[in-house]
Amino acid sequence: MSDILLDLAQNPRARKLIQSAGLPIPMPAQLLRQRGPAVERPLMDQAVLVGGNGELTAVIARTLIIAGGNPWLAAAQLEGPFKELGEAYGRLPKIVSEPELGENTKASLSSMVFDATGLQSPAELDAVYGFFHPWLSQLRKNARIVVIARPHESASSAPAAAARSALEGFTRSLAKELGKKGINANLIRVEEGADDRVAGVLRFLLSPACTFVTAQPITVSGAAKFDGEVSWVRPLAGKVALITGAARGIGAATAEIMAAEGAHVVCLDRPEDDGPASQIARKIGGSVLLADVSDPEAPTSISRALKEQHGGVDIVVHNAGVTRDKTLARMKQALWDQAIDINLAAVERITTELLKGTLNDGGRIVNLSSIAGIAGNVGQTNYAASKSGIVGLTKFLARHVADRGITVNAIAPGFIETRLTAAIPVMIREAGRRMSALGQGGQPEDVGQAINFLCTPAAAGVTGNIIRVCGGALIGA
Ligand code: NAD
Repeated sequence: MSDILLDLAQNPRARKLIQSAGLPIPMPAQLLRQRGPAVERPLMDQAVLVGGNGELTAVIARTLIIAGGNPWLAAAQLEGPFKELGEAYGRLPKIVSEPELGENTKASLSSMVFDATGLQSPAELDAVYGFFHPWLSQLRKNARIVVIARPHESASSAPAAAARSALEGFTRSLAKELGKKGINANLIRVEEGADDRVAGVLRFLLSPACTFVTAQPITVSGAAKFDGEVSWVRPLAGKVALITGAARGIGAATAEIMAAEGAHVVCLDRPEDDGPASQIARKIGGSVLLADVSDPEAPTSISRALKEQHGGVDIVVHNAGVTRDKTLARMKQALWDQAIDINLAAVERITTELLKGTLNDGGRIVNLSSIAGIAGNVGQTNYAASKSGIVGLTKFLARHVADRGITVNAIAPGFIETRLTAAIPVMIREAGRRMSALGQGGQPEDVGQAINFLCTPAAAGVTGNIIRVCGGALIGA
């Protein structure tokens, strides 16, 4: 579905005309997206400014330098780990006290990373202001901002809890302020003892794969067992992935991304969608599995097919979903039943069956929720119930399978341009697109990239998270 405002904004003449006429039309930025599979050095030659006085300097140094970034440091005391590794990789850090203003240095920064893990009190939040304030005008379009903190829940003093918690509001607001330039800002909350699991998350949040994830806190923990290898290129090589609802939209985009990252994808959709499901499977060298997920026989037939044809499964993406909108007073029982059964009950039944020995240890489960579902929406009592049910299911399962090294997360998309949103009345659709920091709808591949990331070994520290892929939606959970 085409977005007229975005199309206009991509045309320099139309853009100039609207701006010079002083028309109050916000022009959404063209977003940076990853093209093709993941590469070894996604930050190649990009300037990344690092600040803060936390405990993760060495992790940040390693992540940035290995990803090909050029580290700029806001304070000389951060230099140690950057210098050591920078020499080996030919990426020596540059100490910068304040922006060097001038034509050539304008908009020179690709990313900013602030390590706030050492923050002890609200008074120390001035370091956050001091780091970001002078540099924001130097950020390029589509820049990435990451703040790293400890969770306030584990703080040992009231001032530390207050300061840690403040960073969430700060990051969400910064994301909303800078979204019109296509800039993302996210918060990593690292539990004590999980520092060695931050690299993958930081790398994702700084990369072009993180296009529509913004204003999000992501918690990194040591909860799920992990002793595997992290590889940045073809991270899903040798893995078998089941994606439900893979015939179109978000499911099809996810299938393409995961196949490009090395997975053998089993594309599941309803028997009546054999045509498009088989087409996707052929395109990516995967397999097709036809089943209605709400069929009571589906859990056993899916499990049997995965066991017999692939020896099991490593990744399960519960993406199949439907809307059956009507205000509750007008809703027929069948509409209620379909939304609850397909979007929620089937997810639970199939997962429970796959956990009886078909999903391999070290596996990944990603469930599709929705911001509209969680926040509530007129005419969507059934859909919202099903999608907030997914939140509880995800958190429960995450705790119960952590000792098998299986992570369970949910993705809550905002407004994504698919068949589902094309069916929304035009004015509501337009409002849905614009009411976000990035001022536009996301593409199915934006959700696919976030799902894919959660399924990689590098995301071993992320479990029990509900991550919105919503472009910083102004309303919602
Ligand atoms: P879509 O309608 O484009 O695709 C959904 C797919 O699921 C279809 O191929 C459909 O055939 C399949 N499906 C539906 N019922 C099924 C069943 N009973 N058994 C097997 N397959 C079935 O939708 P989409 O926009 O790509 O949405 C994918 C998921 O993302 C859904 O769970 C949806 O609720 C969620 N989501 C989407 C948006 C959005 O803006 N598009 C926003 C929030 C959440």
